[in-house]
Amino acid sequence: MSKLVSKWNYPTTVRFGAGRIAELPDTLAATGIKRPLFVTDPGLAKLPVVASTLKILDDAKIPYGVFSDVKPNPVESNLVAGIEVFKAGGHDGVIAFGGGSALDLGKLIAFQAGQTRPVWDFEDIGDWWTRANADAIVPIVAVPTTAGTGSEVGRAGVITHEATHTKKVIFHPKMLPAIVIADPELTTGMPAFITAGTGMDALAHCLEAYCAPGYHPMADGIAVEGIRLVFENLPKAYANGNDLVARAHMMSAAAMGATAFQKGLGAIHSLSHPIGALYDTHHGMTNAVFMPYVLAFNRGAIEERIVRLAAYCGIDGGFDGFARAILKLREELNVPHTLPGLIKGLDMDQARKELIADMAVVDPTAGGNPIELTKKVALDLLECAIEGTV
Ligand code: NAD
Repeated sequence: MSKLVSKWNYPTTVRFGAGRIAELPDTLAATGIKRPLFVTDPGLAKLPVVASTLKILDDAKIPYGVFSDVKPNPVESNLVAGIEVFKAGGHDGVIAFGGGSALDLGKLIAFQAGQTRPVWDFEDIGDWWTRANADAIVPIVAVPTTAGTGSEVGRAGVITHEATHTKKVIFHPKMLPAIVIADPELTTGMPAFITAGTGMDALAHCLEAYCAPGYHPMADGIAVEGIRLVFENLPKAYANGNDLVARAHMMSAAAMGATAFQKGLGAIHSLSHPIGALYDTHHGMTNAVFMPYVLAFNRGAIEERIVRLAAYCGIDGGFDGFARAILKLREELNVPHTLPGLIKGLDMDQARKELIADMAVVDPTAGGNPIELTKKVALDLLECAIEGTV
């Protein structure tokens, strides 16, 4: 019984369904936000999906500001600039609108604008979050436009520390958005590459959470159903971006992944984070590249679980069948099989490989891998992903 001790946290209010973006003014009223800062990224800012959403605010006569200086892997200077705009505009809450990058930066602005200590003091380490002044955190309404990170139901934001090229996770329970509008219609404009990468991110979250050690049957249950949804719907959403049913199920899978990964993540993420920080690759696509290599490496610790999972998902062949299904899914989605396939012209010398392995073993996700991620293991996995040897 001593192992049956754990801590469970579950997400927030989610208004789910096509067309529910129309309820944005109502969500602001419900959260007490009168003057929101609308945070998005520069690519989205040019698309009709942003124009039509801002029109909803205009029609409701809600005064708002817009901030869109957000890089795909947001950096501290984005946060500093966003906070300046937030303060100058006298805002009292944030609408975080976009993929994981804009959602994270919006959440971080809402969190950090009223703090007096540097953001790095709130990294997700031990109880560092208790250093924050919780009363100074303003409410957040989150509106995802990709289906992958699940940041909309998460209590953390990821930001790159430019000086050290490391991705840091900043955590506070009040960074959890007060209300989420999960409207699959907003995701139909995603380019195929982003559909594939974000969908594989949702799969990586569910899979690593399910395989992480620890007692969390709720997270396990959510992860297993999330994985089924990805297998059944990601190829459809990839093949036809306007398939609203597939888009809706992927939106659920994304939120489920982030809900499940409070149990832990693992070596896919530990390796993907340094690659993303050093080469600015898409997070989900990088996870997708590492997935089969890490799955094979962890086999000794997870085989029984994966056999159960495969049976639930209707995949024949136990562990081997599941591993083949991952490879097939990657192929269908045109995920590169190797790191050089992902990063054109990649030429990693030994010093660079050692640096990546060093970063991977200290990544906060490393502790969740079912087999210890030593530097040697990280180097071996990196080599496999370079050579394409599963
Ligand atoms: P993203 O937010 O970086 O967006 C990728 C691209 O897709 C951008 O160019 C954006 O303009 C475009 N885009 C987004 N929605 C679109 C739409 N509906 N139509 C057309 N184009 C659209 O990608 P992402 O994968 O959603 O997020 C990745 C980021 O999330 C990384 O910074 C990663 O570190 C972070 N992340 C956070 C968490 C968390 O728990 N907070 C978890 C995983 C990843």
